[in-house]
Amino acid sequence: MSHHHAVNEPRGAVARQLHYRTLADKQTGAWAIYITHPGNQLGRAHEPLELADTHLPTVLFQVGRHPHRFRGACLGCDWESDRDDTNVLQAVEAAHDHTHTGWRTMPAVHPQPPAGRASTWAKQVTAAYPDGWFARGGPVLTIRPGPADRRPLPGRAPGGRGYDLPARPPHEHPPRPPPQHRRPPPSHSSEGWNGMPESSSPDAPRPAPRPRRSRARINHGQLMRDLDAIAAAHPGRTVAPVPARHRAALGHVERWQRSGSSR
Ligand SMILES: [Zn+2]
Repeated sequence: MSHHHAVNEPRGAVARQLHYRTLADKQTGAWAIYITHPGNQLGRAHEPLELADTHLPTVLFQVGRHPHRFRGACLGCDWESDRDDTNVLQAVEAAHDHTHTGWRTMPAVHPQPPAGRASTWAKQVTAAYPDGWFARGGPVLTIRPGPADRRPLPGRAPGGRGYDLPARPPHEHPPRPPPQHRRPPPSHSSEGWNGMPESSSPDAPRPAPRPRRSRARINHGQLMRDLDAIAAAHPGRTVAPVPARHRAALGHVERWQRSGSSR
């Protein structure tokens, strides 16, 4: 797998975008920031573009090449993903692995409601995430009502800086370490994406992952009980207890929080 670097092409999202602006023929395969993504400055193509003072995610694409190829990149340094993707979401996720380590452990929340209730949503979500997370351009993970809607939405996190990224159902994450020598997981750990049990016994062998029905709905009552149980089982460790007034914003607490902290 090679990136086909042209000898005179610069490296990094900002440098590539500035270089791209200078090209007379823009369809010859140079990498530039993908339309509507941070730093593209759609409609303001000649405005100044400078390195950000912090690492911020964006995505490059190879102009004029079809089908598109995407590459995660950073607005604060010359980092680029070492892997190209045909899927823009995967490239955006790779960029977040560089800019916001730990983003995959953030709670997944309900999508932003229609205007009118959006400010309440933003307040609740901000309270559920780490202090300063969104000011630093961190993403919000939302549970999309349509399982097919996996678009990364730049600028849609509270505060307008970070991405709104689709939360991944647990079965899309890498497998956890084998359970030998570990205590049996609490019963709620065997619950699926929709809050319903996958297996009735915590000691039963874990079944092979299987595709879940795409029309699964969140069981909100079960979810609130899960939050209580998870917070009680892991005091101060993985899931911070969330004040009751903020719980409406939490859609689901992803189980990879625990797998990520137990390596
Ligand atoms: Zn960076």
